[in-house]
Amino acid sequence: VAEDGKTRAWATVHLAAIRANIATLRRIAGPSKEIMAVVKADAYGHGLLAVAKAALEAGVQWLGVATVEEGRCLRRAGITCPIALLCVPAPQEAEWVVQYNLTPLIGSEDVLRALVAAGCREAHLEVDTGMGRAGVLPEEATALWRLAQSRGLAFTGLGTHFADAENPQDELSQKQLECFHWVRSTLEKAGARFRWIHSANSAALLAGLDSESNLVRPGLLVYGILPSTRQNQLWRTQFLPALQLEASIGTVRELPQGHSISYGATHRLTRPSRVATALIGYGDGYPRRLSNQGYMLVHGQKAPILGRICMDQTVLDVTEIPFVQSGDVAVAIGKQGTECLFVEELAKSVGTTEHEITTCLTQRIPRFFE
Ligand code: PLP
Repeated sequence: VAEDGKTRAWATVHLAAIRANIATLRRIAGPSKEIMAVVKADAYGHGLLAVAKAALEAGVQWLGVATVEEGRCLRRAGITCPIALLCVPAPQEAEWVVQYNLTPLIGSEDVLRALVAAGCREAHLEVDTGMGRAGVLPEEATALWRLAQSRGLAFTGLGTHFADAENPQDELSQKQLECFHWVRSTLEKAGARFRWIHSANSAALLAGLDSESNLVRPGLLVYGILPSTRQNQLWRTQFLPALQLEASIGTVRELPQGHSISYGATHRLTRPSRVATALIGYGDGYPRRLSNQGYMLVHGQKAPILGRICMDQTVLDVTEIPFVQSGDVAVAIGKQGTECLFVEELAKSVGTTEHEITTCLTQRIPRFFE
């Protein structure tokens, strides 16, 4: 293994990009709003601790995690800021929520009882305004708030989650916005006072759906990845992609016309070709669905993927790219020369969400922070 470890396949995470993205988020959200950097799932595959520290240095007030284990890692690393637990904990985890001083989102009686029994005294009330995943129904919010009060639990925040913020003008987003407003005013009339009001993920923030809030919860934009909104191009220059995923070229070979490529022989060469293997595959979390349709960058040019992506390697057509040799670097995500291969493009070509692309990168990919 070479000293810097960038040998087979690796990711470089640019922490300066994370910090710059937080500064941009601060400008978009405005000075009166707090920012929660969502760092669940190992900071969307970018590396939990390094990203959390960079985000805090850049001035976020909150971190958002999904699991108690993620919260525990942050606390053990000495991080003391408020940490929201965005996903309901398993009942057996209630005592750890308290021990690690995580702020849970509570939207049901059973979770409330388990957390109160474990000694939880502060939480946020989560309302299901249309996401249909977790949260109290709007008309039942006041009763849950009263129950919490009677049990000595303070709801210091009120939150909801948009189901389709990528389509802000659609009926559902507008309905959720109105519903959240209604719940808030109903609760306030009943005497509730919330220090934090939050609803906006990245797409909602860009779409201005955060009017009700004083705390925003971006994930994707922290990493410089744009949610699939209609305004994508408008924002592209304002956010810097933090992740560069690269792999070494293993072999370069000349193959005759008609030769078949990879499992299932799904590609047959239509001309005498030079093919290279990039030492990365679906065992690294590189999406197998890019088989026969994606490309990587080699010497700053597009090298199409031929045939099925294997567990550990991917065959590239480098016929048109001169002087490719073993040990050269193929870029699977990121920049090379003047070309840039964005996470958004990969997500679109395999028909998935941007979140899935980076989150699925496995532990086999070492992360280097620069
Ligand atoms: N808030 C909640 C409750 C979430 O589940 C997520 C991510 O899935 C986010 C905020 C951040 O979303 P995004 O990465 O789209 O900004």
